[in-house]
Amino acid sequence: MDNVERIALGSNGHHRDKDQLFDLTQPSVRLISDPVAAIEDSVYQILMNVGEDPDRDGLVRTPYRVAKMYRELLEGYQQDVETIINGAMFDVEYGEGEMVVVSDIEYSSMCEHHMLPFTGKAHVAYIPSKKVVGLSKIPRLVDMFARRLQVQERLTNEVADALEGAIDPDGVMVVVKGNHSCASLRGVKKHGVNMSTTAQRGVFRSDKDLRDEFYRLIGK
Ligand SMILES: [Zn+2]
Repeated sequence: MDNVERIALGSNGHHRDKDQLFDLTQPSVRLISDPVAAIEDSVYQILMNVGEDPDRDGLVRTPYRVAKMYRELLEGYQQDVETIINGAMFDVEYGEGEMVVVSDIEYSSMCEHHMLPFTGKAHVAYIPSKKVVGLSKIPRLVDMFARRLQVQERLTNEVADALEGAIDPDGVMVVVKGNHSCASLRGVKKHGVNMSTTAQRGVFRSDKDLRDEFYRLIGK
């Protein structure tokens, strides 16, 4: 499919010929300004191209629902670390070297290879240096990165890097468990039905005892 065919017309683009082409160079073509409408239009195309009748009763609202769903499941593109943390950083008030652990953070993400969901839990630990971050912010960070097209390894590393960048701790470790529906649905074990990924920064890299303590605290 080339670029010309891919242009989405927006929410009113439903009732057009299957083979109609749209030329970007023509001023009459509306450019995509409403992402939901554009996705809606693309879903309509998918339905048509898998052999469905997108205009039958049961499917009439489906492109709209899927578009809204994608916007929700991929809302992480509209977020950034600074806004999420939003100044919720505090001076360390207790013993140096104490591990802060936030475990069992449920997430749902979408694999970038198939745009199918993968879900699981994330466990995050860090050793504060000068700053700690509000505990509720860590699940929100996980969510932000999860709600983008992902591979689990990158999700894990992005959470670790974001925390490291925000509060410059002595160490960060992130463990993510994921259940990949693209693997189970398609019968391919390529990137793991049940997969574990870890990221270590700072002292977690060098100190096996710290890593063991973290695993113990999260019950692994
Ligand atoms: Zn996949």
